[in-house]
Amino acid sequence: MMRWTRRKWLKATALAGSVGFWKKAHGQFGWMKPQGGGQRRRRFVPVKENNPAILRHDMNCERCGDCVAICQQVQTVYGHGKNPEEHECIYCGQCTAICWNHGVTERFHLQEVSQAIREKKEGKSKKTFVAITSPAVRVTLGEMFRMAPGTNVEGQLVTALKKLGFDHVFDATFGADLTVMEETAEFLEKLDAPDVPKPFFTSCCPSWVRFVELFFPEFRKQISTCKSPLRMQSAMIKSYFAQSQKIAPEEIVVVAVTPCTAKKYEVTLAGEIPEMDYALTTRELGWWLMEWKIPFAELEETPFDSLLGKGSTSGTIFGNTGGVSDAVLRTASFRLTGKKPPETFFSLSEVRGLEGLRKAEIDLDGRTIRVGILHGTGAAREYLKMAEKMPFDFVEVMACRGGCIGGGGLPTTEIPLTDSLRAARMQGLYATDRESPLRMSHDNPEIQKIYADFLHSPGSETSRKYLHG
Ligand code: SF4
Repeated sequence: MMRWTRRKWLKATALAGSVGFWKKAHGQFGWMKPQGGGQRRRRFVPVKENNPAILRHDMNCERCGDCVAICQQVQTVYGHGKNPEEHECIYCGQCTAICWNHGVTERFHLQEVSQAIREKKEGKSKKTFVAITSPAVRVTLGEMFRMAPGTNVEGQLVTALKKLGFDHVFDATFGADLTVMEETAEFLEKLDAPDVPKPFFTSCCPSWVRFVELFFPEFRKQISTCKSPLRMQSAMIKSYFAQSQKIAPEEIVVVAVTPCTAKKYEVTLAGEIPEMDYALTTRELGWWLMEWKIPFAELEETPFDSLLGKGSTSGTIFGNTGGVSDAVLRTASFRLTGKKPPETFFSLSEVRGLEGLRKAEIDLDGRTIRVGILHGTGAAREYLKMAEKMPFDFVEVMACRGGCIGGGGLPTTEIPLTDSLRAARMQGLYATDRESPLRMSHDNPEIQKIYADFLHSPGSETSRKYLHG
């Protein structure tokens, strides 16, 4: 008989919370039936050796089946392909977040990054190390240092990365602002274009894009061509920033610090345009700080570096589900009217929250735009199966429940990953937005500067070369 240790109980609570939510959220769709009836029940998700995002550690695995449950029943990936034994991963890493035995983990980049920085400290290399941190990292990293969920540790995060040896620390909200500029332009262009099928889907979540490629390829062309915010920002660092600092792009090492295991997959996507070199999960950064005995909670606060460092809080709220829609609607309103959007655009309750599918009808310069917001690929699957019955103009999808604040690379502490934890993390980001004087991407002076100096305008030839894929 299984012994119920505190850890097992907490793990079960976390999974039950998730599954319970899905039962409720999917009331409108009908609950998903477990797949693979009649076949041998798997106790762990198979991970291919060349998986760029996650690793399996057989010695640590207790065969509890939690990874199978979350992948099959919540994310609807394992067992949903044509051949269940040919498991194709979407790299969201939700299995790594549920497994407290480290039976499945992210593919570690930590050793390579810390080794490269050590070599620089020893005078063996002259590379410039640049860290970019995603919005969700600042409201979750503190949990590894016994701080309350949702505590914003942005200032300590920058100090810590500088102490570890990074030369520049940039805020990925700048990349998110670039995404807002490009995605808004693309959406408005396609909105009235004849022969362009609707809805227009967001592209900033690589696991969502891969989910569509694997299971619903007929919708692939409807996904925005924009790269993810981290890929956009990395491309700008290796081009615009490199030129302005007179550094050869190959002498810059870009390390993304993210809530997301799928960013490790994105490292492999760069083509002719150089992008990020490594992606560390929030957990990896926490372990690194612990190993170096850096007293994180006691650190002084340091602001992000500028020239690619400053972002608006439209970029900050990208960290949670609904944030992309919120941000794009603000800039779309400005582009259509030439005026600051009405105050209601800064507290769009319809797009916020944790319902699996949220719908909003937003007036944009006298025209009603139908917006759908989905999070979790289980909800996305149910929607895609009946997309023609739910006409939308714009649909935002994030693969992880809650968006990136529920990402697979976030801390797995003894605090169970429940909706109340996700809500606390979301509140941390929305509070930052409420208090900010800079709440729209197009108002960000650094965004204005990079378009004036380098990119020219959203959707320009240069923008398409560097920012679209
Ligand atoms: Fe990564 Fe965020 Fe997508 Fe999760 S929702 S896979 S953390 S980009």
